[in-house]
Amino acid sequence: SADCLYHGSDLELNKGFYKVRKKFSHKGSFGHSLLIGGSFGKIGAMVLASRAALKAGSGLVSTYIPKCGYTAMQSTNPEVMVEVDDENYIQYFNFKTNPTAIGLGPGLGTHLKTKKGFVDFFSNCKAPMVIDADGLNIIAEFSDLSELIPENTILTPHPKEFERLVGKWHDDYAKLDKLLAYSQQHNCVVVLKGAYTAIAHQGKVWFNMSGNPALATAGSGDVLTGIITALLSQGYTSLEASLLGVYIHGRTADLAVEENESIESFSATDAIDYLGRVYKEFV
Ligand code: AMP
Ligand code: MG
Repeated sequence: SADCLYHGSDLELNKGFYKVRKKFSHKGSFGHSLLIGGSFGKIGAMVLASRAALKAGSGLVSTYIPKCGYTAMQSTNPEVMVEVDDENYIQYFNFKTNPTAIGLGPGLGTHLKTKKGFVDFFSNCKAPMVIDADGLNIIAEFSDLSELIPENTILTPHPKEFERLVGKWHDDYAKLDKLLAYSQQHNCVVVLKGAYTAIAHQGKVWFNMSGNPALATAGSGDVLTGIITALLSQGYTSLEASLLGVYIHGRTADLAVEENESIESFSATDAIDYLGRVYKEFV
């Protein structure tokens, strides 16, 4: 499409809007991320997303998960606070946490009761949101839900999830047109994941240059959701959080493969463990 601009997303660009921490800052200066998701058998997605949010610099991190995930979450992530919903899946969305940013969808599942609660919750949500995974699948299932997406929400579909939202495309040009159209119609940032993740906002698209096929691994997207949520909670705009978050996520895999890991051995936990190395490159 004619009004589509291309930008490389490299270290210099990302350094440009990275915010250095001030000496007299405290944990309240860096926001409070709330990750919402999980269901029986998929609590790990929330463990990864919330740990990633913590290590990506969110001052406080809370999770809202089904009761069955309580022990797993608290014992693997001692820094993370936990509120619980029903036993095996989320349905009420009645948490008390007052977050500065929300990451919605990792491991959420698509139980009928989860879907019901989701619809009311997400269309009335006041905090800026990142929506991923089953959060996107629920929006796709009820076609009029797209109209209710709050302004400046970030959606992070992989190609299959994006196809569920917008239907099939014939070639890469048609895919890009759909990406630009969807993000403009719903006034949101759409992060279409894959090699060279495409980030669309207000008629422009950015292609990310970091990352490699090591990221094609279980839980990789959950880590990205945590990183972007953490950046939103720290006061980056939705566009900045998306560009910077996707870059950082990819860079963890590039550094890991240069050093201790291989394309095959790299796992989502390694992405989290390399966040420190990536942030060091900014300062
Ligand atoms: P998900 O499918 O939700 O787990 O997300 C996968 C994550 O890994 C996304 O951030 C993708 O951009 C990234 N990813 C997957 N395959 C590749 C690849 N071949 N090169 C670079 N990044 C990839
Ligand atoms: Mg995913």
